Amino acid sequence: MKNENIESQFVGKETPFYYYDLNVLEETLDAAYAASGKRGFHVHFALKSNFNSRLLEMIQSKGFGADCVSGNEVQQAINAGFDAKMITFAGVGKSDKEINLALAHDIFAFNVESIQELEVINELAAVQGRKAKVALRINPNVDAHTHHYITTGLDENKFGVTNAELERAAAVIRKCENIELIGLHFHIGSQITDMNVFKSLCVKVNEWKNWFEERGVIIKVLNVGGGLGVDYHNPDTNAIPDFEAYFDIFDKFLERTPQQEVHFELGRALVAQCGSLISKVLYVKNGVKKNFLILDAGMTELMRPALYQAFHKIEKLGDANATELINYDVVGPICESSDCFGKEVTLPLSKRGDLVAIRTAGAYGEVMSSRYNLREEIRYVYSDELV
Ligand SMILES: *Cc1c(COP(=O)(O)O)cnc(C)c1O
Repeated sequence: MKNENIESQFVGKETPFYYYDLNVLEETLDAAYAASGKRGFHVHFALKSNFNSRLLEMIQSKGFGADCVSGNEVQQAINAGFDAKMITFAGVGKSDKEINLALAHDIFAFNVESIQELEVINELAAVQGRKAKVALRINPNVDAHTHHYITTGLDENKFGVTNAELERAAAVIRKCENIELIGLHFHIGSQITDMNVFKSLCVKVNEWKNWFEERGVIIKVLNVGGGLGVDYHNPDTNAIPDFEAYFDIFDKFLERTPQQEVHFELGRALVAQCGSLISKVLYVKNGVKKNFLILDAGMTELMRPALYQAFHKIEKLGDANATELINYDVVGPICESSDCFGKEVTLPLSKRGDLVAIRTAGAYGEVMSSRYNLREEIRYVYSDELV
């Protein structure tokens, strides 16, 4: 979103809306595809980070697979043109209906999160006369050093099968005739910026892979999940994550045979920087101790700050050379104190009607929007629609 005159192109568009810069998306996808492709890696896009159909169509056209966490996401991926052979389906609570849908499409793999789920998929696959391909999600007990709400790989989290259950899981897989174990799945958390965390993950993956191979089980696919973080503070100068460094860690530290495939499930790293939430200043309120900027967007459009105190860079549009700077608490219109995008944000002096961009909102933004307070349906504008 580097265009300095972008403000003039937004005139007349009803706010708030998500603005998607398709050039940034394309550059990001190309960089990720090149860095993974040259190492023979496969990347699935995690739809839960953004299932906007325009974005999905581009992601699909660039050769990525899809990683889904609900039956509707599986259907949305199919509708956007993703080949079922490149779709994975994860989640701790898959319903029978969702499992049946994914079975009917003969997806690439179910990422299975419990022993009981293995048994249920086996039964449902038998009814359809199919063999379900599954990857067993193992909880590797690696601390992702990220916010505790987005850490998923510790023993106390609800995800995956733990160490203590592995022996039994292996026995269940052996006896289930309508299940084929194709691989192992890991996902330890999100917004991970410390590459050492991924190195620790590789060490664990090697251990579990060996555990299975020592028992004569062939592991074709190592799915190491997603979680690569983005730079929320520098959306323009550091727009593209360092995919080279990321994939290089796995290339170096994962022990694998030439026949073994390595799969990734990236969400945030692919789409966060292409999206901004554009909002209008409704009111400026100068309190006793604080100045408030009250926007027409709130936690109903972008929930991350209210949900996990996430930081998003806030910019006033069209005021590059402003001299008078003020500290504002930038808040939304929703009747909740947590409806705040940032405290003490330094911005050019602002007035009613000014436009503000909340950056790096392409991941876990639009998808988490809600109608709370009976807010309007979310709107979006794509960069190729601007004149
Ligand atoms: C959320 C999720 C991802 C994507 O995580 P990002 O941090 O957006 O890359 C990948 N795999 C699974 C199983 C997930 O739940």
